[in-house]
Amino acid sequence: MTNQDILLHKTLKDYFGYEQFRPLQKEIITSILNGEDNLVIMPTGGGKSICYQLPAILMDGLTLVISPLIALMKDQVDALNANGIPAAFVNSSQTDLENSSIIERVKSKEIKLLYLAPESLAFFEQLSQVCEISLIAVDEAHCISSWGHDFRPAYTQLSFLKKRLPNTPLVALTATADKATREDIANQLEISNAKRNISSFNRANLSLEVRPAQDRVTQIVDFVKSRPNESGIVYCLSRKQTEQLADRLKKSGFKAAAYHAGLPADVRSKTQENFIHDSTPIICATIAFGMGIDKSNVRWIIHYNLPKNIEGYYQEIGRAGRDGLDSETILFHSYADVIQLRKFAEGSGNEEVQLAKLERMLQYAEATSCRRNILLSYFGETATEKCGNCDVCNHPPTFFDGTVIAQKVLSGIFRLQEKEPLNVVVDFLRGSQNATILDKNYHLLKTYGVAKDIAWKDLQQYMVQIINQGFCEIAFHENNALKLNELSKEVLFNGMKVSLTKPVEFVKADEKTPQKASKPQNNLFERLRVLRLELATAKGVPAYVV
Ligand code: ADP
Ligand code: MG
Ligand code: ZN
Repeated sequence: MTNQDILLHKTLKDYFGYEQFRPLQKEIITSILNGEDNLVIMPTGGGKSICYQLPAILMDGLTLVISPLIALMKDQVDALNANGIPAAFVNSSQTDLENSSIIERVKSKEIKLLYLAPESLAFFEQLSQVCEISLIAVDEAHCISSWGHDFRPAYTQLSFLKKRLPNTPLVALTATADKATREDIANQLEISNAKRNISSFNRANLSLEVRPAQDRVTQIVDFVKSRPNESGIVYCLSRKQTEQLADRLKKSGFKAAAYHAGLPADVRSKTQENFIHDSTPIICATIAFGMGIDKSNVRWIIHYNLPKNIEGYYQEIGRAGRDGLDSETILFHSYADVIQLRKFAEGSGNEEVQLAKLERMLQYAEATSCRRNILLSYFGETATEKCGNCDVCNHPPTFFDGTVIAQKVLSGIFRLQEKEPLNVVVDFLRGSQNATILDKNYHLLKTYGVAKDIAWKDLQQYMVQIINQGFCEIAFHENNALKLNELSKEVLFNGMKVSLTKPVEFVKADEKTPQKASKPQNNLFERLRVLRLELATAKGVPAYVV
């Protein structure tokens, strides 16, 4: 060990109480101490904070930390002070007097780390006049990029930092950056030559599973029942869902609570505390829950709805199993969610990026190959082997010739003049006598009832597969009516074959028997998937709406 190594280990032990560095921490710290700019990409819980907190202790001047959330700032500052590291924050939630007394303390070199929200950069000028700034850390740096999933306009002002202090090392840290976001961060912060530190995103202890959303409440109740005393989070899209689900779980005898930004602050912090101390082990929450919560024994994460992008999904499942023990994750996938998320994306002001990200999420949810490999390749890692800890590896799909089913479906769409959404087409093909069918006299049309031998849910799933493979399309601007396209004609008139997989029947996790992975018989499915992806990438919009 070099002298520097000994000093680093001693500082780690003395101030943070840890014996060893985690992967990449020492390299990053050493590089910062050498005055280099760094871009740090490390999963949630990987230990990013120490990468700038430890150098801050060893450097002469002040370390400025830019952090997006006031609540997080306060926790971090309290934790640092508890470890004997003088830290403080300035922001708009404090009075001018409080803020100026902190600046006085900075001036007299009492403070080593100062946290600042990007909206409070006005303090920067004052600070740079009264002290030497040794290091700038930009935490949650993906907020600077409109390619990221959590864009904050105030972050874009941060490019002036490098201009003002070109010789001060700057470290940008984030858990959530795909390649495009990563490079955007470096460009915008003007640290294009920064050392890239990208740690592995592989969390092998998390199992990955996607289930169809049918009866998801019952599925969740069963799941929780078979895992007594385990702690977990169910992420829901809406505040109302979090409350309804928490009520349902409580009625079934579980200790559960809802959490969302609409609840009073004291209720939220109480819920958070009860979760951390295991007195309320189950939280039904919107994505407002979790950032900055450091709980190591979360055993499962359920996504009640499809997340809007892979970064968010990865960050949320990453809250399970931080202690390294086996933990489970389940995502419930429904087309209704996709339609809802598309609407959000369209109103977001950043439509193209969000739709493209949603499309990637959808491809993950519908994957017929190892899900972990999809995640890893999304984050720029090349995965080689199948993981053996995802549902696709454990239950590889079996394909069958679904051409006849597809032909029935497509001719049904044709008979309904491409005016009806999925569920009406299903009712029509199954010969349902409900009001919509009878009112519109659909029961008098040809092909009415041609698929009555197929169960409703199965037919619905087949149709989703048919849509996903691009054999027909959803017109999102026409009440989600199904439309025919070029490929539909190939299937109807030119003998193109369609492969389908058996509808997924959900298997309870403990009944799972790992099977040997086998290759799909027909790779048309994969080929079309690639085709759609290429189309989507070329046009910047999801292929299935083109
Ligand atoms: P991130 O910001 O990457 O999500 P944090 O910096 O909040 O992660 O660290 C996550 C947890 O890991 C914290 O409880 C932290 O104290 C702990 N931790 C960080 N570095 C080490 C280490 N070298 N050894 C043990 N625990 C560590
Ligand atoms: Mg962090
Ligand atoms: Zn796998």
